[in-house]
Amino acid sequence: MSTKHKQPASASNFIKNVIDADLASGTYASRRWSGNPGPAIVQETAPEDPAKIRTRFPPEPNGYLHIGHAKSIFLNFGLARDYAGICNLRFDDTNPVKEETEYVDTILDSVKWLGFDWQDHLYYASDYFDELYRYAELFIEHGLAYVDSLTPEQIREHRGTLTQPGRNSPYRDRTPKENLTLFREMRDGQHPDGSHALRLKIDMASPNINMRDPVIYRIRHAHHHRSGDKWSVYPMYDYTHCISDALENITHSVCTLEFEDHRPLYDWILEKLTKFGIFERPLPHQYEFSRLNLSYVVLSKRKLIQLVEEHHVDGWDDPRMPTLVGARRRGYTPEGFKLFTDRIGVSKADSWIDCSVLEDCMRDVLNDSSPRRTAVLDPLKLIIGNYPSNQEEMTEAPNHPQKPEWGKRKLPFSGELWIERNDFVEDPPKGYFRLFPGNTVRLRYGYVIKCTGSDKDADGNVVAVHCEYLPDSKSGTPGADNYKLKGNIHWVCAANAFEAPVHLYDRLFRVEQPGSTGDFLDDLNADSKKTINARVEASLAQALPGECFQFERHGYFVADQVESAPGKPVFNRTVTLRDTWAKRKR
Ligand code: ATP
Ligand code: MG
Repeated sequence: MSTKHKQPASASNFIKNVIDADLASGTYASRRWSGNPGPAIVQETAPEDPAKIRTRFPPEPNGYLHIGHAKSIFLNFGLARDYAGICNLRFDDTNPVKEETEYVDTILDSVKWLGFDWQDHLYYASDYFDELYRYAELFIEHGLAYVDSLTPEQIREHRGTLTQPGRNSPYRDRTPKENLTLFREMRDGQHPDGSHALRLKIDMASPNINMRDPVIYRIRHAHHHRSGDKWSVYPMYDYTHCISDALENITHSVCTLEFEDHRPLYDWILEKLTKFGIFERPLPHQYEFSRLNLSYVVLSKRKLIQLVEEHHVDGWDDPRMPTLVGARRRGYTPEGFKLFTDRIGVSKADSWIDCSVLEDCMRDVLNDSSPRRTAVLDPLKLIIGNYPSNQEEMTEAPNHPQKPEWGKRKLPFSGELWIERNDFVEDPPKGYFRLFPGNTVRLRYGYVIKCTGSDKDADGNVVAVHCEYLPDSKSGTPGADNYKLKGNIHWVCAANAFEAPVHLYDRLFRVEQPGSTGDFLDDLNADSKKTINARVEASLAQALPGECFQFERHGYFVADQVESAPGKPVFNRTVTLRDTWAKRKR
């Protein structure tokens, strides 16, 4: 693995400034880390240094993690690492209907793959269902929550709009006793879905819609992946999230900007519970940053699920998918994602990042970490007329041009080679320096050859190129210096190279903002996957699944982790050597 990109502290950002100020002013110095009246599960978390900061990454287990989540993971786990704090991994699993254990497993796997370790700080919001329920009764007892028996549609209607205040529900003034009875009946499964909901009693005229008596519990007769059939009522996200943060002693609760308007509710709930004697100050505080939008990529879970379910891609880990499992199969690396998140930074400004920035980060990392190999993607036979028949010799090629310590490998050379079809033309356009009749080029790491002609089939297609080699021109010998040539092409020895399938992946969408002018599916790039049979150098037979290489002159490739078999690798193109899209855009 490259050392160049190894996890230095990440760049400064506004959240780090907040933390620096908090640490300087001793905000957390007085914090009692243990002894909170929260659940036993979080009482063990008394770190030696009471001023430690604590963050969390709170995925909802209803999909696979994607590149946007990587930004949040590097931010939250990165802050904990930079400040010697702790980052909790917490599954926000309050919605029983959409969540599955399959998602939990893949999320754990992806976080690990990015290089982070939650140690024993793995939590589930569903672990707090008892506390959440108990606190809901407290809100009822204090006259700050009521059971509403309007239908969900009526509740929506009563909520008002951005310009119009909401209206009180006719059930708003039920007595605490009445509310408690009803809420317990809801819990005990005595009422059907949608017949009642528990709402906080805040202010139906608030300019902030989130403060207009938000629903905090609804009835759901549904099986939960962890709590089973114990509950018939489930808490809502806004209610659960702040309480989970407080129970886990989170100091800086970092989320994306769309939650900015929810912050007053976050604070309201925790302030009340502090008054009730449940929590102690300092309370966790929410900070918002702008979510990652990547051009040519969709990052909406709903759309990703649609791509998979309607078979527009070959599953969640299709190398064209922006999921972390897809990126991994594509050959993207955790180091590349680290570099990317450092380069794009963290701010509150909404912006689109061009996906070439991500591709460049992958190139930079792979350039450093990938051994060089040769592969001919579109093979054309080259016959060296004056090379002794049945002779074979070895040439040498460096494994990495900037890393002599990586050594060299031997490449067999003989009178029949494979070259790239587009390295030969009969009638060269101006500025074409590669093979055409009469021209001289160097076979990289081999000999200088002079093209003498070509064979064609009945349809006029070139099927073989003929040439003669200059025996004193071998690379690495003194004679090589006598030849200065503009054309330098790669090749593999026909007798030794083997055929390997290569998937040439490209961007999944052909427009910058898929779906901006209609159905996002209409913007799919029909050429995002092409499979060819390449001829690759013999040493690649040993490529291990997941191993990355630079195929010289082509780009970065990885041995596919799913389709490769021992001795029979299948390669995925991770990224080309240069951005070919920038040109197309102009
Ligand atoms: P949903 O809309 O289904 O909730 P989500 O993308 O918010 O989807 P979560 O599982 O709730 O998915 O996300 C976990 C964390 O990742 C959240 O804190 C969220 O803010 C963050 N996150 C999600 N998408 C992005 C993104 N594009 N950029 C940065 N952070 C993101
Ligand atoms: Mg979410």
